[in-house]
Amino acid sequence: MLAWYDTNARVLPWRGFHDAYRTWVSEAMLQQTRVETVLSYYGRFLSRFPDLPSLAAAPESDVLKEWEGLGYYSRARNLWKGARQVVSEYGGILPREPEKLRKISGIGPYTAGAIASIAYDVPVPAVDGNVIRVLSRLFGIRSDVTEPDTRRRIETLAASLVPAERPGDYNQAVMDLGATVCVPGTPDCSRCPLSACCDAFRTGGASDLPLLPKARPQKVIPYAVLLIRSEERVLMRQRTERLLQGLWCFPMLEGTFSMDGLAVQVQKKLHLSCSNVNNAGSARHVFTHQIWEMRLYTMSAEASASAPAGYEFIPLDLLSSLPIPVAMNAAISTMKE
Ligand code: SF4
Repeated sequence: MLAWYDTNARVLPWRGFHDAYRTWVSEAMLQQTRVETVLSYYGRFLSRFPDLPSLAAAPESDVLKEWEGLGYYSRARNLWKGARQVVSEYGGILPREPEKLRKISGIGPYTAGAIASIAYDVPVPAVDGNVIRVLSRLFGIRSDVTEPDTRRRIETLAASLVPAERPGDYNQAVMDLGATVCVPGTPDCSRCPLSACCDAFRTGGASDLPLLPKARPQKVIPYAVLLIRSEERVLMRQRTERLLQGLWCFPMLEGTFSMDGLAVQVQKKLHLSCSNVNNAGSARHVFTHQIWEMRLYTMSAEASASAPAGYEFIPLDLLSSLPIPVAMNAAISTMKE
């Protein structure tokens, strides 16, 4: 794997350093996100927060703002919380021991393994989805990889394979093999350095592995998104829910409404009398477990209207400084029209 890595490693901006902070940021960004997407965020994030103390010292909303569009915002919040924890508990330097790393906010077993092996040369595995796929095919593991027993078996195997020398390169080699050769669906076994010892290659059926339980269908939720203007201000709310926590959204009412019904609901739920209610189109946003089917409505509140509890009227020229999720993009475009 190391010989293969020496000639096939992907060239990525977070590689070639022994810098635990850079490894942490890159791994946080890469969770559930394509490398191509991360590339456009990583450099900017690093220039804004060049080291761990600068990240810890920043307000949470600045961190969310830099993360805007990357999704899965709990990663950004946990990274920020974790950075503050590292400053208070470890003087701003990430520890090298995986057990200590795992106790830091935002660092799970995979990230702990990645940081320890890549930045500190500690011979521990970093088991992510790519590694699970490669190992389940290589060893012909045909049981559900989300089951704890199977997971433990894969982790034990992974740990037994990490070499004492260049453990970080080895872990990255397996990740790269999973990302470029042993890909989901049909792997390109003809380019694989492991084909001579691969169970799935020998016996067939690689594309059926790893074995996963059937995904539950996403819940589709209809929303009315309300663009309530009061002069040069618009009503918004900083979310407290787990999904998109800390990000700013326009008021949303669950359900589908007629225009008249909507004005009544706005009065009832937000205690605002609004006029000029207009349909401003629709938008759809797909999250991992739910889909928002959004109908957008513009409406006007009185100039003297005060925001209901939990909401704020935000001056339009301040909108671009707030962290706003991609799910609100269509609504934001409507505001600019
Ligand atoms: Fe994956 Fe094929 Fe390589 Fe086996 S031989 S590890 S299935 S790419």
